[in-house]
Amino acid sequence: MKNNSKLRSWLDDLNLDHPLVIAGPCSAETESQVLQIAHDLKNSDVSIFRAGIWKPRTRPGNFEGVGSIGLKWLQKVKKETGLLITTEVANANHVKIALDHDVDVLWIGARSTVSPFIVQEIADALQNTDKIVLLKNPVNPDLSLWYGGIERLYSANIKKLGVIHRGFSTYSKTKFRNNPEWQIPIELQNKFPDLPLICDPSHICGRRDIIEETSQKALDLNFDGLMIETHNDPDNAWSDASQQITPKTLIKLMKDLVIRKESVHERSFIKELENLRIKIDDADSQILDILGIRMKVSDEIGKIKKKQNVAILQSERWKNILKKMISDGKQRGLSEDFILKIFKAIHQESINHQEKILKN
Ligand code: PEP
Ligand code: MN
Repeated sequence: MKNNSKLRSWLDDLNLDHPLVIAGPCSAETESQVLQIAHDLKNSDVSIFRAGIWKPRTRPGNFEGVGSIGLKWLQKVKKETGLLITTEVANANHVKIALDHDVDVLWIGARSTVSPFIVQEIADALQNTDKIVLLKNPVNPDLSLWYGGIERLYSANIKKLGVIHRGFSTYSKTKFRNNPEWQIPIELQNKFPDLPLICDPSHICGRRDIIEETSQKALDLNFDGLMIETHNDPDNAWSDASQQITPKTLIKLMKDLVIRKESVHERSFIKELENLRIKIDDADSQILDILGIRMKVSDEIGKIKKKQNVAILQSERWKNILKKMISDGKQRGLSEDFILKIFKAIHQESINHQEKILKN
């Protein structure tokens, strides 16, 4: 991507001495709800007021947004508070209506980014716009799909671009609603260093108690801003109730976050270090996974040895394993001494497992 240093300019133009904050409810529900939240956020670090008016829901039959009437409420927010306004657009018709209502920032949701057809349709509708456009990551952890979205928007001559990291869907349950997979936004940041990168801890966490630590993590990783769902009565919100926080909590959270201001030199050093540490953490967890798998296989072997009444230790096989590991290890730059230590420990753990099985 050429000329991408321009992409940053909209963020620089905001002249902030702190990370960008976008806040407001998941969904616009009523005019008074929208205005109340906006007024509560007016004299804070929040620059952009968000509210979804067309709500993509996973299952039909839930509240699916108030529709374009909500844009009139957002216009009122802008007039009464001076905040910039943003909403999600998911097709060309949404784009047209949002532009007609002079919405300052349009964001593309995670369920849209997965579809090149939809992203292209939105990019075409936005062609040459001077509005700010923010692209969320796709729901699935596919970096090239995210790149593809950026490239489509950039090719439509949209100059004020940014991206939002909102985590990735997983089938297995984690403490997050959408797993952050920090390595992915960091890789994107390395590829497009001038593209403003915003974290949406609300959709990553899905629960309000871990939003602050997740926001801090994002700032530590040099994200440029945060988008946090904020509601006057979170428990009774019409969508995403468990992850929204009150304006008061948001203002406290913004005060408590530690913002590290590094020099450009330190910034790139820290970025690189963090990036490598994430890789190390990832590798360590893979080592543990694989050791777990190995011990399970070893248990299975223990069970069949017990059935057949075979001795645990078969020294010929063990000698062969070691020889192969030492030679394979060398090819990976691992010393003989290290391989011996590590495989002796693994072997001992296997023996302990199998002994337990034989005794039972
Ligand atoms: C939202 O921001 O309310 C939203 C629907 O987000 P996402 O596209 O990240 O699910
Ligand atoms: Mn939401």
